[in-house]
Amino acid sequence: MKGKAHIIGGLALSGLLLYWNKTSQWDLSITTFDYITGSVLGSLLPDIDHKKSFLGSIFHLPIKHRTLTHSLLFLFLTSIIVLQFNLSIGFGLFLGISSHLLLDMLPIRSKGICLFYPSKKRYSFFRIPK
Ligand SMILES: [Zn+2]
Repeated sequence: MKGKAHIIGGLALSGLLLYWNKTSQWDLSITTFDYITGSVLGSLLPDIDHKKSFLGSIFHLPIKHRTLTHSLLFLFLTSIIVLQFNLSIGFGLFLGISSHLLLDMLPIRSKGICLFYPSKKRYSFFRIPK
């Protein structure tokens, strides 16, 4: 999936939470700009394992595509670390990465992602893991 689609997916998911936050009793104290920045960054971050991706062309992590950076381990570790410094960016990052993982598992011909890395089983919505 392309970077633009991931950005749109990340903004859609984080927009839903932002709307819900404004209309509910919760009122999480998040800064909208930081939250959106975290969401966009999170929606692109997992593809740093791919040289031709937007962020991967700037900084490339030389590991197999759709393994560590497309896992729940990466999602939670990255989000928890960032949450220690900035709540808004951390929430946005969590939702951006989550939307990226969901979108990469969505296409019918998807080879899947290593959701439970270091397990090498690949998961997608329309494929039984091997
Ligand atoms: Zn990806």
